[in-house]
Amino acid sequence: MFDVLIIGCGPTGIAALAECKANGLKAVGIEMGNKPLSNISKYPDGLVFFSPAEQFQIFDIPLDCKNRKEVSKEEVLFYYSRLINRYRLNIKCNYSFVGIKECQNGLEVLCRTENGVETINTKRVIFTAWFNINEVKLESIKETKVKIYYHFNNAIEFAGKRVIIIGSGISACEACVFLMMSGQQIRLLLRGKKNDWHNNKSFKRLLEITESEVIEEALDIRVHESGICMKKDDETYSFDCEAIIICAGQALNVDSLNIFREFNVIDKELFSQLCKVEPYSKILRKRKTTTLTSQALLEETIKNWPDLQRYVTTGIKGVYFAGSILHVGASAAGIRVSINTAISVVKFICNRDSLAIIKSPAPTLGQNLVKENSHFIDMSAILDIKPYPVKSWTRNTFSVSVLEDDYGMLSTKTESSYYLGSKKDRLIKKIFRLSNGDNSIRDILQKCCDTEEDVKKLVLLLYHLFYHNGLTWFPDTFGFGAPK
Ligand SMILES: Cc1cc2nc3c(=O)[nH]c(=O)nc-3n(C[C@H](O)[C@H](O)[C@H](O)COP(=O)(O)OP(=O)(O)OC[C@H]3O[C@@H](n4cnc5c(N)ncnc54)[C@H](O)[C@@H]3O)c2cc1C
Repeated sequence: MFDVLIIGCGPTGIAALAECKANGLKAVGIEMGNKPLSNISKYPDGLVFFSPAEQFQIFDIPLDCKNRKEVSKEEVLFYYSRLINRYRLNIKCNYSFVGIKECQNGLEVLCRTENGVETINTKRVIFTAWFNINEVKLESIKETKVKIYYHFNNAIEFAGKRVIIIGSGISACEACVFLMMSGQQIRLLLRGKKNDWHNNKSFKRLLEITESEVIEEALDIRVHESGICMKKDDETYSFDCEAIIICAGQALNVDSLNIFREFNVIDKELFSQLCKVEPYSKILRKRKTTTLTSQALLEETIKNWPDLQRYVTTGIKGVYFAGSILHVGASAAGIRVSINTAISVVKFICNRDSLAIIKSPAPTLGQNLVKENSHFIDMSAILDIKPYPVKSWTRNTFSVSVLEDDYGMLSTKTESSYYLGSKKDRLIKKIFRLSNGDNSIRDILQKCCDTEEDVKKLVLLLYHLFYHNGLTWFPDTFGFGAPK
């Protein structure tokens, strides 16, 4: 019997698992995909998040990256894999949540696995899997040679193929841009009219160069043996292709909500309220059609958002909620708040006051905004880290601008060894000398600082070095021993 079972192993689920570990709770995470963070894995390779590195951090364990303001998908995946190793998190992949029942002393959670339905017994459940890729099904004949994709990772998968992309949002445009940049001719089908993205000058230029086209108001799209057919203005068109990429955004996980409704965790009214929520970012896009200011729209969004506070503080029938449904950023933004909701839930489970940054899980977007450098550093979690300097062809990238910005130095060299060797700053030199795998951050602070003020400055400097890949850390240096 587990103390806690966490449904969904994205950043929110991982945060919940790590917090359980820190509080001595026996926890397991189930993940529908074949790896943790499987939703984020589906974003385009090289995608840069608009949130800076610190917003992804759990317990403020440094996310070492090439530039903290331009964290890539790969760096985020790498970071979470190290957290999973560091805390020895128990995650079952290819386990999909399909049911829940009461049993003696707790709950029985039903999971669909590769080997059929499996039951896991637990005292409590934390649900984090709110939004999934919207896999819109097209009518299709069985014998088709056309392959359908629901996400775009990399142009190489489509090289040499004729590609049709379906979707009106940013993801569809991003897939088009990546493919056109790789020299591919594409056809983008929209249900409605073109929007600002499609009328963007550089997007239009790429269309021209690659002889690609955007087709508006494409209806009744069906897959035939060697491509698709569609209707527009009552005319039928047919296009041959080998691949179709459907980018229909993310959709609320209604299947799971139905399970909770049947289990009386949510009632009919809350169910329909949840089904109607629209993230603030989506509502902002409609601004042109209203006279309301952004502030008024935000207030409106908050007012219409269900307040799920009791699902965080006390849970209902042993079921707790964490993650994107608790704030108006929803699936589009607000990773920091999502992580904090997970940490809060576990703290409430342990009867501790929630120390997380969010004051309440009430749905306000303001809580999403983490000001530059104003984040609270919880040093206790990093004191045992034994940092190492990085010297690698792929990761040692102190860019020229970084050197200019932070140290007023100009250099055309990007090799970290050059940087380390030539930098006149004695403190940085000392940090790198001490970062030999023997000294923990606690030791380094002791050896370099005389006052509290020095400690604060040095911690920020250490983060700075992690954020530029000058320093790194290894999960196995934390005293958990080798993996069993
Ligand atoms: C292109 C793009 C860029 C983005 N950029 C940012 C950004 O810069 N900053 C930001 O804050 N946010 C950004 N977001 C949103 C970001 O993806 C979310 O904030 C983040 O993924 C939320 O993490 P999560 O763990 O709550 O949910 P998810 O990452 O969605 O994780 C939920 C997990 O649950 C799993 N799951 C689903 N159903 C089941 C089931 N039935 N059983 C078991 N497991 C299940 C899923 O496979 C998934 O792995 C972006 C989104 C997109 C699409």
